[in-house]
Amino acid sequence: MMEKTMPIDGLFQLQPLPYAPDALAPAISTETLGFHHGKHLLTYVNNLNALLPGSGFEGKPLEQIVCESEGAMRNNAGQILNHNLYFAQFRAPRQENRPTGRLAEAIDAAFGSFDAFKDTFAKQGAGLFGSGWVWLSANEDGGLVITQEANAANPMQRGLRPLLTFDVWEHAYYLDYQNRRADHLAALWSLIDWDTVAQRLEA
Ligand code: MN
Repeated sequence: MMEKTMPIDGLFQLQPLPYAPDALAPAISTETLGFHHGKHLLTYVNNLNALLPGSGFEGKPLEQIVCESEGAMRNNAGQILNHNLYFAQFRAPRQENRPTGRLAEAIDAAFGSFDAFKDTFAKQGAGLFGSGWVWLSANEDGGLVITQEANAANPMQRGLRPLLTFDVWEHAYYLDYQNRRADHLAALWSLIDWDTVAQRLEA
């Protein structure tokens, strides 16, 4: 089972970044990271905490709220879970950055090669209409799939195990890339911490 995200004293917390605010530049600038994590994600956390009292979901894990609630509660909980997975999957950029081991084998089995996977994933992200997320997930058989999820949706809602995601809401890239979503997505590959992604497959 995946790790559960629990509230502390009844409140969900802003998950701290596991790197310095300038660690992802220039692919994700310090300014974008500051707004995205410190303002957008914080707002989702505050919104969900305000909706919890009397909802029946007090003290429940975030993942359960994402899968079982509706409306504003599901949207805010989904955005917290999505962003927690998103921010935790990065670290400072590296050249020659690619998965290894069982994750690499599973990507090859599902998509033919790592380059073919990257091409499909980036196209699904660039082609998603409106706001949302593109995901790599594992199904119940351990096979890998790519899905587009609109707005705040998470693959857990359809029984998948989320491994990797690109945020294609404009707030994720507009300060640095304006309308050039595909260029932003292409720059993200050097930032992926494939060890973190692989751990999600094994957890
Ligand atoms: Mn976002």
